[in-house]
Amino acid sequence: MLVQLKQLCYLRDKLKIIHKKNIHMAKYKISVAKGDGIGPEIMDAVLSIFSAVNVDIEYEYVEMGKDVFLAGHSTGMTPEAQKSIEGNGILFKGPMETPKGKGMKSINVTARKVWSTFANKRRFRTLNGVDTVYSKAGIPIDITIVRENIEDTYGGIEHLNTHDVALCRRFITRPGSEQVHRFAFDLARRSGKKNVICGHKANIMKLTDGMFLEAFYNVAKDYPEITAGDRIIDDLCMKLVVRPNEYEIIVLPNLQGDIVSDLCAGLVGGLGFAPSANIGERISIFEAVHGTAPDIAGKNIANPTSLLLSGLIMLRHLGFNKEADKIENSLLYILENGVHTGDFGDRVIPAKNTTEFAQEVIDNLGKTPQKSKPATSPDIEYTWKKPAFPQKQPMMVTPKKGEAKLIGADFFVESEQLADEIAPKIQAVLPEGFELIMISNRGTQVWPTGSILTECIDHYRVRVATKNEVATDMKEIFDVSSRIGEHFYISSVEMLRNYGELQGYSLAQGQ
Ligand code: NAD
Repeated sequence: MLVQLKQLCYLRDKLKIIHKKNIHMAKYKISVAKGDGIGPEIMDAVLSIFSAVNVDIEYEYVEMGKDVFLAGHSTGMTPEAQKSIEGNGILFKGPMETPKGKGMKSINVTARKVWSTFANKRRFRTLNGVDTVYSKAGIPIDITIVRENIEDTYGGIEHLNTHDVALCRRFITRPGSEQVHRFAFDLARRSGKKNVICGHKANIMKLTDGMFLEAFYNVAKDYPEITAGDRIIDDLCMKLVVRPNEYEIIVLPNLQGDIVSDLCAGLVGGLGFAPSANIGERISIFEAVHGTAPDIAGKNIANPTSLLLSGLIMLRHLGFNKEADKIENSLLYILENGVHTGDFGDRVIPAKNTTEFAQEVIDNLGKTPQKSKPATSPDIEYTWKKPAFPQKQPMMVTPKKGEAKLIGADFFVESEQLADEIAPKIQAVLPEGFELIMISNRGTQVWPTGSILTECIDHYRVRVATKNEVATDMKEIFDVSSRIGEHFYISSVEMLRNYGELQGYSLAQGQ
């Protein structure tokens, strides 16, 4: 009996060893969220193409999106999903729906911000088979937009200051700007591009966009082989429409980047052909830019191209260049041969459904496109390394330039009186050493000088500073605040500080 038991144990251990030897450990494990609406259909199609070229990735499926919200997870993802994504460092996701009117924040924006995916990279290029006015005119387009992905008005910090006045805070930070500019220049260097252009509105927003632009030229100094230039955003939009072939890489603040991205999508045939990657130090998210398309969900007719192109950026990010090239060339080949889903292409040629379209890509693997430039990733050995998990929350700061000196404050007050009535009331309560500098309404000075034609609303900025810009402190500012507060409702206070030579606040229009 004992001998038989020993033999059984021996056999069991032997089997375990054989089993272990046959288990293949994939090179990378990534988290996959199929998403809502058409998400599962297009994700299945894309993963079937990946498996046809034997991409060495293990998929860990996670739950995110509408049903997770409705199940009571306010972030739109299960704790297991969060753990998986934070552990793997890569999320490949389909489009997701955030239930409307329930006060829930968009899961897409939350994911990008919480995990600090600071750069949104989107490539827009002419695809043969996708007709546009430019392709018909023989103007080739290949533009990559790098959009700052965390800051700007996307902080979503908004307040109703009076019944009639809503304010939104716009954050531009020096480290955040430098991070995204460095990404854009690195990208140019890696992909052999010669030009990087910074889009901005620094002529109007001198401190915010001014900081973004200054950071751009500071970072540019480290990339002398790349030509750095800048364009004011409105001029940039006009030039993109008139001469899109002159642009390679454009880096932009968040909101401007959002708008210019869709403009560029329009140049190459719409959102269905626009891939997107959200790159961070620790976590990167790859997703299609279109939504869940509820009108066609479940019909197996959605176009998987956008998600596939995003997946190709992910494969290259991980170092699977050869596999990505093979898939891309097949995609380009079938597109130029008229293969299409119902949302685009030559109506004379019958449309393929989602599964058939993916199968066409699989069936043509190994083919080379004739009309499009074939994809050839740089022949460099590259292996993605999962960055180490930080021991504590990272704090980003740059070296300080000059001492910060507090000299006063802007008090935002609610009043239906005119500035000439407000000014003496403020002057009467100011302590020794402080003076009323100016009053503005919607950014335009209305006191001590102004125009009777300036239309006002019930929200004034009252600028109070020390005489001769003598340094003051928080205690004195709060004293001023409580004196003004006896006469007016103060909706917010913004400090006036100088940083060495740099004035840390803008002047009012007309000041
Ligand atoms: P949408 O992109 O889902 O649809 C707009 C139109 O484009 C529809 O007619 C749709 O059928 C079509 N379309 C979109 N993708 C397509 C594809 N792959 N193939 C063929 N046709 C396609 O935009 P929407 O209707 O404004 O938004 C629907 C939902 O998606 C909303 O809940 C929205 O919040 C969400 N959304 C999610 C993301 C994301 O997860 N990144 C992005 C945008 C919108």
